Amino acid sequence: MVYLVEHFYSIQGEGRYIGKPSLFFRFGGCNMKCEGFGCKEKTPSGEYILGCDTVYAVNKEHFSSNWIPISKSSQLLNILDLYDLPENVDIVLTGGEPLIYANDLIFVEFLQGLLKKAHRITFETNGSIAVDFDKFPVYKQCIFALSVKLSNSHEALSKRVRGNVIYSIASNAKEAFFKFSIDADSINLGLEEEISRIIVHSPRTEVYCMPLGGNKAEIEANTEPLIEFCKDKGYNFSDRLHIRIWNQNKGV
Ligand code: SF4
Repeated sequence: MVYLVEHFYSIQGEGRYIGKPSLFFRFGGCNMKCEGFGCKEKTPSGEYILGCDTVYAVNKEHFSSNWIPISKSSQLLNILDLYDLPENVDIVLTGGEPLIYANDLIFVEFLQGLLKKAHRITFETNGSIAVDFDKFPVYKQCIFALSVKLSNSHEALSKRVRGNVIYSIASNAKEAFFKFSIDADSINLGLEEEISRIIVHSPRTEVYCMPLGGNKAEIEANTEPLIEFCKDKGYNFSDRLHIRIWNQNKGV
């Protein structure tokens, strides 16, 4: 069973395609928790829990009452008809971690249906889940934003950085780029070395650095130090427009 948390039509708020009108599908579930990001979210039962800025799409125990079960690919494809979309609009698949469904035939059929209609598909992934490009060649026609988690996520290194997965995605996908969420404190704590140890698995893949934060104030506090870091290292700075403009990471 595939779980969808929300869908919305907006602009891409970050990364290489920032500003592109895009239809987003946010899938439920993730193989990590990233409690180090320290974002608090109120659950439907009124408790506050800690996680990343999309904890409502990660924590099944507390939020699954809002998750939509998907049993056929047509349920997902029909969502496009709910919007008045420009032809071939970009599709962004995010989460949670959308690649937890990479081997699910419902999910694969959904991708095939999107490509048949000539949509450009971008995955927003933590880059830790292997994709079988030989069994499912549809993934070779997709773009992967590899948001590999850093130590500020508080996830174990062996779980968040899987060199063979990064290499495989970067070498087989239509396009791939790295995308890191960074706070001002991490910049002074060996961040350069940490990023180097990740990008070594695909050295020619471009790097985008974004300010970490679940709200506008946090994003703003991390922006200027991060711009200086990018200038120094030659990485691309990427804003997070959806948080800066709408002050949240939920569908807007
Ligand atoms: S990998 Fe991404 S979606 Fe999963 S917990 Fe971490 S930040 Fe959230």
